[in-house]
Amino acid sequence: MDLSNLEKVLENEPKYRLNQANEAVFKNFISDWSEATFFSKDLRDKLNKECPLEIKADVLVSKKEDSIKARIKLKDGLMIETVLMRHSSPTKSGQQIANPQSNLKLVGDKDGRNTVCVSSQVGCPLGCLFCATGKMGFKRNLSADEIIEQVIFFSRLLKIEGSSVTNVTFMGMGEPFLNYDNVIKAVKIFNDPKYFNIGVRSISISTAGIIEGIKKLSEESLHVNLAISLHAPNDKLRKELMPIDKKYPLEEVLKAVDEYIEKTKRKVMFEYVLIKGVNDSDECAKQLSKLMKKPLYFVNLILYNKTGSFEPSETKRVEKFKAILEKLKIRYTQRYRFGDDINAACGQFIISK
Ligand code: SAH
Ligand code: SF4
Repeated sequence: MDLSNLEKVLENEPKYRLNQANEAVFKNFISDWSEATFFSKDLRDKLNKECPLEIKADVLVSKKEDSIKARIKLKDGLMIETVLMRHSSPTKSGQQIANPQSNLKLVGDKDGRNTVCVSSQVGCPLGCLFCATGKMGFKRNLSADEIIEQVIFFSRLLKIEGSSVTNVTFMGMGEPFLNYDNVIKAVKIFNDPKYFNIGVRSISISTAGIIEGIKKLSEESLHVNLAISLHAPNDKLRKELMPIDKKYPLEEVLKAVDEYIEKTKRKVMFEYVLIKGVNDSDECAKQLSKLMKKPLYFVNLILYNKTGSFEPSETKRVEKFKAILEKLKIRYTQRYRFGDDINAACGQFIISK
């Protein structure tokens, strides 16, 4: 898909034509300009040539049938991954589907949440040790259009069954706050009632703790959900797992979060991946509880998805860790594991050649 010539192609048309075109793409999710019958045949042909809508992607459906991963090929040949997670309506199981836009049919009830986990960069420069994306290094930032394209891809599929994307999380490849402007541009389009109409409370940004980003977000009029990748309760361990901690130590990140809460009055989620023998001890649980003792903080425990370097914590250990948080009255949730069989779970996003 490439809309960079859209304004140019429509420059001699009345102004409302551009609005019509944008609505067709971002609201009605057409996948070919021939569907835009309000345009003349000549104009539709020209648009198909100069602003192609096709999204080149391969798709995998998980065995549990609750998630679908798409590998989207960008204009310059680079690839990104994005995942649709269906909270209550299973998709029809399938194997690899080569041409999703014509072959994949979804079934299920229409009331479930449909969350798209989007990538904000190709790769990631921050190199967290437990994360597959971090291992592939950094290629480039995504444009706002390339971020939006990921949600459009699934919106087109969901349209077939009469449903739509209800939630967007920036938890795919990359660090959203290192691509701040394009991420916010995309968020505004997702939120726009003229287009996707997804509420700010249904949009989440997860950051490894880029302080400038947290500060800028608190100045925005759109207060999306903020999540902080914590993963360790002290700098010594966090530095080992997340090199970015050397630049942005815990104390400074938490100070920025407190200022954010002061301004926005919004809850903040702290993500904590439980890694066997690394950050899952009783002592870690106690230290974490001490840090998290603030009214609008809450912890989101994530089971480590295998990416090569570590092992996930055993169930008994996870239960003990949770029991300590409970005893110390820390609010926490545990993340449901989507798509680990198709490498579409948190931290498993990687494109290897
Ligand atoms: N770069 C951002 C957003 C993308 S990562 C960030 O780090 O917050 C999305 C979430 O997946 C983060 O909380 C990240 O720490 C977590 N994650 C990374 N690797 C993981 C793994 N192997 N298992 C489980 N979660 C992982
Ligand atoms: Fe980048 Fe987030 Fe992965 Fe760290 S966890 S390498 S910040 S994508």
